[in-house]
Amino acid sequence: MSVPEGVERDHPLARLTTVRVGGPADWFAKPDSERSLVELLAWASAEGIEVAVVGSGSNLIVSDEGFRGLAMKLGGDLTRIERRERRVVVGGGARLPSAAAKTAGWGLTGLEFGVNIPGTVGGAVMMNANAYGGELAEALEWITVCTASGSERRTPDQLGFSYRRSNLGPGEVVARASFELTPADGAEVKETMASMRARRREAQPSGIKTFGSTFVNPDDPRAEGRSAGQLLDAVDCRGLVRGGARFSEKHANFIENMGHATTGDVLAVMAEGRRRVHESLGVVLEPEVQLLGEVTWPAAWELGG
Ligand SMILES: Cc1cc2nc3c(=O)[nH]c(=O)nc-3n(C[C@H](O)[C@H](O)[C@H](O)COP(=O)(O)OP(=O)(O)OC[C@H]3O[C@@H](n4cnc5c(N)ncnc54)[C@H](O)[C@@H]3O)c2cc1C
Repeated sequence: MSVPEGVERDHPLARLTTVRVGGPADWFAKPDSERSLVELLAWASAEGIEVAVVGSGSNLIVSDEGFRGLAMKLGGDLTRIERRERRVVVGGGARLPSAAAKTAGWGLTGLEFGVNIPGTVGGAVMMNANAYGGELAEALEWITVCTASGSERRTPDQLGFSYRRSNLGPGEVVARASFELTPADGAEVKETMASMRARRREAQPSGIKTFGSTFVNPDDPRAEGRSAGQLLDAVDCRGLVRGGARFSEKHANFIENMGHATTGDVLAVMAEGRRRVHESLGVVLEPEVQLLGEVTWPAAWELGG
């Protein structure tokens, strides 16, 4: 098959992520409709090319060697936010904070939790994103998933949601999502969002290059109910530096690119934090952040005994 129109070679990906590290994608495209998305997926499948979507890149690290497949960033019609009475139908590439702000303006409640999640709607569905008790699955009514063979609707009960996970596989792209919301006083909804933002500013660093939570909070009795950040803090990881990356001084589960980090530096910080937590507390931390491309973990990642 010939290469579809608009497909580029060797596209840098670091700037499409919030932590700004990593190499290029061999192939890159910006589909702007469900039809062009399905065409790209069909082409990649026929050519045996791996595919991945980059949303806002806010929970993503790209290998320093890059990604040997087709990376896609949803654009055009796939970023639209539309009101349909009590529903809001949103493109998978729309930003969740924008969808939250718009629905507040329309006097609808149910998406406020999205104000602090700097990702796209597609990334939020994929990651089952959540904040301050707001449940994405509670408001989500259906999604349109595009694959190499077409598009189909799925409901939340078909998405296998668990903590920061869904069952969406490679080659399955969230093109659209519908949220069923409740009419409310728009001013009150905006106030709730403002107080969520203020709480967030107190708890987390702002204005730094990061991908948010590095590790998921462990479900292990040895953690004694502590979050991943509290465990990293307990083993003195706050501020731990490797090359150009460090665990944030303000929130130990956030890794910061100090300006010249590589993905290798980020992985070294992760591996050392995980090693310390395992050695001192016996708890194995697992990444929340998603990886794109082949990476080589430092030896410390393989935990002894
Ligand atoms: C400062 C900061 C604060 C954060 N706070 C929170 C928080 O409170 N709660 C929370 O849950 N997360 C939080 N995050 C993490 C992140 O914002 C979420 O995981 C978000 O949902 C990721 O969306 P994204 O579009 O950036 O996805 P990306 O990081 O671009 O990608 C993440 C994964 O989703 C896949 N993906 C992206 N778009 C699609 C799509 N359309 N279809 C299929 N797969 C797709 C990617 O291929 C990748 O596997 C935070 C991140 C930062 C930087």
